[in-house]
Amino acid sequence: MPAREPGHPITIHCPHCGGESILADACARWNVEMQQWELSNVFDDTTCDDCGIEVCAIERPVQEGA
Ligand SMILES: [Zn+2]
Repeated sequence: MPAREPGHPITIHCPHCGGESILADACARWNVEMQQWELSNVFDDTTCDDCGIEVCAIERPVQEGA
């Protein structure tokens, strides 16, 4: 998943329910120094937590002043 341009924030939406409860598949790596899981890689596969199914998430730019 490519990094986002600063100054152009987006929201991620479910195409079915329109909600933002989207989960992305990711890998986490244990960081010994931090003593916590550190996000290593985020994949394109997304799941809607509300619908409980894998979805093709929609990206929308955040409206200024909305
Ligand atoms: Zn949904």
